[in-house]
Amino acid sequence: MMTILHGATVVTSLDPAEVMTADIVVDGDRIAAIDSSAPADLGATVIDCLGCLVLPGNVDAHTHVYSALARGMPYELAAPRSFVEILRRIWWRLDRALDEASIRASARVAGMEALLAGTTTLVDHHASPHAIDGSLDILAEELGRLEVRAVLAYEVTDRDGPAAARAGSEENRRFLGRVAAGDLPLTRALVGAHASFTLSDSTLEACVDLARSSGRGLHVHVAEDAADERAAEAEHGVRVLERLARAGALDPPPLLAHGVHLDRAEAALFRASGATLVHNPRSNMNNAVGRAPIGLLGSRVALGTDGIGADMFEESRTGYLRLLEERATGAASTNDEANPARPAWPLAGLAAGARFVGEVFGEPSLGRIEPGAPADLVVLDYHAPTPLTAATLAGHWTFGLSARWVRDVMTAGRIVVRDRRLVTADPKEIAVEGRLAATRLWERLAAIGEHPYALDEVPVE
Ligand SMILES: [Zn+2]
Repeated sequence: MMTILHGATVVTSLDPAEVMTADIVVDGDRIAAIDSSAPADLGATVIDCLGCLVLPGNVDAHTHVYSALARGMPYELAAPRSFVEILRRIWWRLDRALDEASIRASARVAGMEALLAGTTTLVDHHASPHAIDGSLDILAEELGRLEVRAVLAYEVTDRDGPAAARAGSEENRRFLGRVAAGDLPLTRALVGAHASFTLSDSTLEACVDLARSSGRGLHVHVAEDAADERAAEAEHGVRVLERLARAGALDPPPLLAHGVHLDRAEAALFRASGATLVHNPRSNMNNAVGRAPIGLLGSRVALGTDGIGADMFEESRTGYLRLLEERATGAASTNDEANPARPAWPLAGLAAGARFVGEVFGEPSLGRIEPGAPADLVVLDYHAPTPLTAATLAGHWTFGLSARWVRDVMTAGRIVVRDRRLVTADPKEIAVEGRLAATRLWERLAAIGEHPYALDEVPVE
């Protein structure tokens, strides 16, 4: 089955920016040719893209699909005074209320919203301590049905006791085996782990063993809040990244979420490790934890939403504007006097996420529009009102582009959004199911108290 996207302005690469006017010939699941005049008599489906902008599909490099049903969730407890209290009173209550039906509904909502926003890949970090076994299959099934490319992992942690820690490890092991069997073309797996401060040495060791034996790295939160660093220093005598390095968790190279409180030595360790770090600007702002010292971290810094939808136009723009404001006001992250704000910063972050996912899928050209690359594409009905070239793309990205221009989306050569409508499912049905599942989930949540996990912390006033 051949499809030709005819006459578009094509962003063939985000970093460095490359733009050309061309026809894109898609054959099967990949791009066959980029041509200035592809013949239209090949029996191909031709999609008129004259004047439109075609981009590589966006990658959300760190998210929590299960949080899709948290929007508007009631909150009755005392207001959290610290990041750890946010976890104990909000997210670790929500994850204990999840069952198979709510995991399924959240995957459908999150997958639908991702595609409609032009995001073709989700890198997910899943937790459902009372429904662990098979949870990754539910995500794979629903995201696969919508044709979302996905990298899945179960969040192993000791916070819910040793049996849940073992079950989490087992879920990762089982699902890695299923992915290796090769029947999930759009899905890959990593070894999920929560964060240093809720992982015992033996549980971390089990995760590292699994990473080594499977050849897949960890996907773990790192230094999202200073509490993670304080706990590592108090309990292990070293900083978080040093603890992970000593445990062997940097090999194979992991995906690290946040890194807000990494110091200079950890930043150097990170740069030398081959790991990828995911910066989640809106989540960091929402939790008021600060921002990662990204000026110290080199080029392997991707962008994620940490569960706040999957709109990477909005995420990248917000992150960039925050850097600009910080620079203008002289405010800086604790360890990062080198503010990396530059117009192409959003594009570089999105390209880094695509490179990471390309490595996981064994598809080095994922995230680029070139012959041989997987056909993950977004057509924006954006008729540029000023010249759009490689030199001006960054300006259009920050000040013009948004998810509202998304017209068509293709994942692995299949049209999944056409004329702004989801092709792979009925969005109204997904929303109705979502509201029903959310209502039940919120009812269960009311009976679940603050998570008892204790960290010897003085709340930050
Ligand atoms: Zn996260």
